[in-house]
Amino acid sequence: MTETNGKNGRKRLYLGVDIGGTKVQASLVEESGGILGRQRCATPRDGSPDDVLDAIERAMTDVVEKKGLTIDSLAAIGIAVPGVVDPDTARVIVTPNMNLSGVEIGAHLEARFGVPIAVGNDCNLGALGEKWLGSARDAESAMAILVGTGIGGGFVQKGKLWRGARESASEIGHIVMQIDGPMCGCGNRGCLEALASRSAIERDIREAVAAGKSTVLTALLDGDLSVIRSGMLRRAMAAGDELVTKIMHRATEVIGYACLTVRHLLDPDVIVLGGGVVEGNSRFMMPIVESIVASDQLPGAREGGRVLLSALGDDAVVLGAVALARRRIDRSPFKRRFCTHPKYPQLAWVGFGEVAIGKKAYTCDVFITVGGKVKKRDKTSVKQFYGTSHTVGPAELESVCKGGPAMLFVGAGAEGRVELNEEAREFLVQRSICHKVLPTPDAIEAYNGSDQRKAILLHVTC
Ligand SMILES: [Zn+2]
Repeated sequence: MTETNGKNGRKRLYLGVDIGGTKVQASLVEESGGILGRQRCATPRDGSPDDVLDAIERAMTDVVEKKGLTIDSLAAIGIAVPGVVDPDTARVIVTPNMNLSGVEIGAHLEARFGVPIAVGNDCNLGALGEKWLGSARDAESAMAILVGTGIGGGFVQKGKLWRGARESASEIGHIVMQIDGPMCGCGNRGCLEALASRSAIERDIREAVAAGKSTVLTALLDGDLSVIRSGMLRRAMAAGDELVTKIMHRATEVIGYACLTVRHLLDPDVIVLGGGVVEGNSRFMMPIVESIVASDQLPGAREGGRVLLSALGDDAVVLGAVALARRRIDRSPFKRRFCTHPKYPQLAWVGFGEVAIGKKAYTCDVFITVGGKVKKRDKTSVKQFYGTSHTVGPAELESVCKGGPAMLFVGAGAEGRVELNEEAREFLVQRSICHKVLPTPDAIEAYNGSDQRKAILLHVTC
């Protein structure tokens, strides 16, 4: 099915809003899950509830107005809150990191904008997003574990979130992994979050430095180790930093054992790992997690609970918020008749060195994202890195596969010379993305004939 139109022939559009500890992100989303625009603004962490609501409303209004629309033209809005919420009353029960506890956020925003609002916990919605369009798209049941400043999770079964008796299910960050371990922000000791979140990793690095150990981070960050971003951890490990590597290794092991616990407790089809720490360091972390999960000795459990990486990254939460909002207006994306695909262009092989995409001719290498957008391939960077543009690696796939296609076609040139290297194939397997590498004319035919959510990379000229 292609994009469904709403009243007056207008497309049905939604807003997904992710209220984070540092920023509010509002994204304008099509019925197919395509993201039309994003807007961020800073979260007033120490502000009053009204200040936080002002920031949320500003991000919402800005992203819609940038596209020449008004909020009342939207079909529904989903809000992701970092804390405990009651989805039935759209009320925030408690938000530890900002001033929204007790706020009837749904009623407030509905009165303000006149559009149906759905509210959920951010990590729960991240899991729902991965189920809708990400790595868990084909899974009957999925647990997502998001590792950032803190650690959160969500469990989805048959397209529905498992909420628990008090809206507190899936608080994976607070399972105790070490009795009498380090103090956690929640008040308990030895929680997963107190051992493996970015805050825990930062704390361990600072303590080791205070005890006289050295790390390249001291130079990289000018001596200020108060905030160490995930990318910095990656840089330190790439530079051979022993301290950071050791601390990251330990944190990753704890995450691996948490995955085992999830498998033994819930036996999900898949476990999806995401969040800044994992996404920034997946090449280091995934093999460690995979080897722990593969070492499982419990009879019957060994074959289950494949561990995947998030296919949607930062967009998982806003897309989950939209999925929840769509359910609120009885258009759940998990119902077959409301499951729509983006509009894809028709491709044609014109002859050597030329392809037609829709009505336009291209005489260079291009790719078409899962949203149907045509982009030029960055052959210069590929050539610089691999010495040839015939190799496709994971860095290139990051842009080609943005948005989580179920299927990637690769047109390998008329003679089929382009190849995915081993890391690129691993990138796809880890995100549950199927792929086919074919000579370009055949890839075009396969792409045109496929009714999956798809992307294609086309080698056209040498
Ligand atoms: Zn805790």
